[in-house]
Amino acid sequence: MEKKRCTAVILAAGSGSRMKSTTAKQFLPLNGKPLIWYSLHAVEQSSVIDDCILVASDVEYIRTEIVEKYQFQKVSAIVPGGGERWESVANAMKFLETEEKEINSPHGYVFIHDGARPFLTEDILQNTLNAVQKYHACVAAVPSKDTIKLSDENGFVKSTPDRRTVWNIQTPQVFDRNLIVSAYHDLTVEAEKVGKENIKVTDDASVVELYSDCHVKLAEGSYTNIKVTTPEDLNIAKIFIENFFDKNYKKGVDI
Ligand code: C5P
Repeated sequence: MEKKRCTAVILAAGSGSRMKSTTAKQFLPLNGKPLIWYSLHAVEQSSVIDDCILVASDVEYIRTEIVEKYQFQKVSAIVPGGGERWESVANAMKFLETEEKEINSPHGYVFIHDGARPFLTEDILQNTLNAVQKYHACVAAVPSKDTIKLSDENGFVKSTPDRRTVWNIQTPQVFDRNLIVSAYHDLTVEAEKVGKENIKVTDDASVVELYSDCHVKLAEGSYTNIKVTTPEDLNIAKIFIENFFDKNYKKGVDI
């Protein structure tokens, strides 16, 4: 089978308010490199990914301080982010839509990834590629280690889903290019109608669930593929680097 073009969209436009730091979390140092370096490095080294669109709040800063400084060759465009994650992705999808018309690029796959997840591995990229080729939409996921409960509005337990059916969802979330561009197009139209503040989606699969008939497949992620959100996550990330990734960075090791 001929490999279709695989485009990564790396999100780095969050403010990182939960990190309690004046530096946006994607630029905080981790083992001497800014956090965002790690996912860009994984993409740069990957045999799966062909090119990469970076989404950032300060386009010029990320261009000089990250892309040029560390010579990431696969970054083909830097797109400004929006107020919420979904708006940042919508901007990147709009860019792809326009590009598609301009350069008549072949249809391929889009790998949307949180720049705040430094431990993206080639195995995860390969697992999600395999799944998207078969199912058109997939998300990296791991079985939930905790029991999950749904609550009512007063903070009481409403129900307890069977843990065997509960998964922690990560990124990359990977889709046929047309499918995800069209789903975000529909979401943007909806946002104009009902007001941005009424849009509650927190991941890309939800957008596909809402605006298409496609069933999203779960693909094997990794327990080390954490999102660095709070100061304690940064400490965990340091431990991962010291214990797993220095020796075996490319492959990644599950714990
Ligand atoms: O806020 P959250 O932790 O869910 O962010 C996940 C990813 O989305 C991060 O990499 C963050 O930089 C990115 N993001 C974004 N634009 C926003 C909010 C978050 O690109 N407005």
